[in-house]
Amino acid sequence: MADKRPNIVFIMSDDHASHAMSCYGSRINTTPNLDRIAEAGMRFDNCFCTNSICTPSRAAILTGTYNHVNGVTTLASQLDGRQVTFPKLLHSAGYQTAMVGKWHLGHGGHADPTGFDYWNVLPGQGLYHDPEMIDMGERSVVEGYTTDIITDISLGWLRDRDPDRPFLLMCHHKAPHRPWDPDDKHADMYEDEDVPEPETLFDDYANRAAAAAAAKMRVSRDMTDRDLKQPVPEGLTADDETRWKYQRYIKDYLRCVASIDDNVGRILDYLDDEGLADDTIVVYTSDQGFFLGDHGWYDKRFMYEESLRMPFLMRYPREIDAGQVCDGMILNVDFAQTFLDCLGIDADERMQGSSFRPLMGGDAPDGWRTSMYYRYWMHLAHHHVYAHYGVRTLRHKLIYYYADGMDQPGSADDTKEPEWELFDLEHDPMELNSVYHDPAYADVVKQLKAELDRLQRRVGDEPYDHPSAS
Ligand code: CA
Repeated sequence: MADKRPNIVFIMSDDHASHAMSCYGSRINTTPNLDRIAEAGMRFDNCFCTNSICTPSRAAILTGTYNHVNGVTTLASQLDGRQVTFPKLLHSAGYQTAMVGKWHLGHGGHADPTGFDYWNVLPGQGLYHDPEMIDMGERSVVEGYTTDIITDISLGWLRDRDPDRPFLLMCHHKAPHRPWDPDDKHADMYEDEDVPEPETLFDDYANRAAAAAAAKMRVSRDMTDRDLKQPVPEGLTADDETRWKYQRYIKDYLRCVASIDDNVGRILDYLDDEGLADDTIVVYTSDQGFFLGDHGWYDKRFMYEESLRMPFLMRYPREIDAGQVCDGMILNVDFAQTFLDCLGIDADERMQGSSFRPLMGGDAPDGWRTSMYYRYWMHLAHHHVYAHYGVRTLRHKLIYYYADGMDQPGSADDTKEPEWELFDLEHDPMELNSVYHDPAYADVVKQLKAELDRLQRRVGDEPYDHPSAS
């Protein structure tokens, strides 16, 4: 007899910010196929990552644990595949499982994908055109555009599967990660128009800790020739050069997104054509958010909203009514337990998130979390972003740049003292003005420090003990 447990199609892109999706109110593009998921299911408006960087977020999603527990704190870390992951638990429970596309958790030894009947992944970051793929350990070059290829392989696996057993497909796109190479089909999109600029493109980083001004991910200054792909026109004013670079960047980024959208449509069409849509949980998310010229930046890493926030769309006709929006706070460490809960499979006791299945009715139940813990470890590595940890509540955000190793070579110009930031998201949603030193917020600071301490202990992390702290 056929196994009627629900299937899961988990589609994750790399660096796709929710403010580049029309279902999230994008001012700069349309994503009709991603919108299909939102229209038939639920859009989560407050989904956050616990560390806004590729490899660590992927480890958090697979294991349902924070990075100090799964050991993947940085881009250079590898996931030790002997850990419990939700795909392994599904596989043990009789699911057919596949992982296709960007893995980025290491290769060889214990770092290859585990818990999958089938895997076919890009090595490392992978290429946009004619990528090398690792098909169950065998490397070969596959001709074509990576987003199309990953979808083709995913659909091929779906067609060849055993129709009598439920499945988990993890379809992970490389796009729209830097260096934002579009395919031929979308190369001319936006050719004759200007994409609207974000309000904070010309942020001057005043009224914040030193970290914002120190970061080297400015559209105006830090993009490479490879990123821009065209020589900068001569004779532009400084502001006009920034505007020109923003257009170069955002147009290629959105062209990559357009290809994802088309390819998500192909997967949705397949589920419709095969009569699988009613029995399949479809998720679209990204490993973190991204700065789309916001604060004058590209990239991510910071605990600021554009980077912290993940898109998360979920279609599941058995339990979610069409067109729902949920503002309850959910985290990447919750995904594993949520899927297991929906499938009736026990979670592992090591997992540290919470199943948000109770939120699928639309509202967060009494007692649902109202704060979250965040930590970015890669001090000064790539883009010179300071390590930090912090707490976000429904209204406020407290960030601590803990000055880990600020005495290391090359950082002589940086402050060696830890610094705090506090944002009141109700009054300052763009996070342009830290009120940490404002006496009116003294009580809020005190409460948030206590909450940060509570959350840090609860997840088993430890504060960084700065030498200058008494
Ligand atoms: Ca990423």
